[in-house]
Amino acid sequence: MDAKLRCPACLRQYQSATALIQHAESQAIKCQIRESNEYKAAVDQITGGFVDTAGRHQDHTIRYIAAAACFGEATEGFEAQVAKANVAYWTKQEKKREEMMKEPADENSW
Ligand SMILES: [Zn+2]
Repeated sequence: MDAKLRCPACLRQYQSATALIQHAESQAIKCQIRESNEYKAAVDQITGGFVDTAGRHQDHTIRYIAAAACFGEATEGFEAQVAKANVAYWTKQEKKREEMMKEPADENSW
């Protein structure tokens, strides 16, 4: 099974849910997922609620709790849940894109 996970913000692909969550949490990388107003929603969608934000740090960055840290990286349930949520997210995005492409009614009646 191809279990690639993609970050909703920067579209980087990850081989595991843990890697994706660590990416979302990393302060070192330039990814807009942490600056996005939709951050929490995106994380919820990716993780199916496994990860929750927990207010903000003093520097106003969003503080969040990675369930991976609680469940442990080897937790199969966590990986599966995140993978499922990620697939659901991108399936939805793909459908949205298809509808947007349909909408302009590109019927050249020339
Ligand atoms: Zn990212």
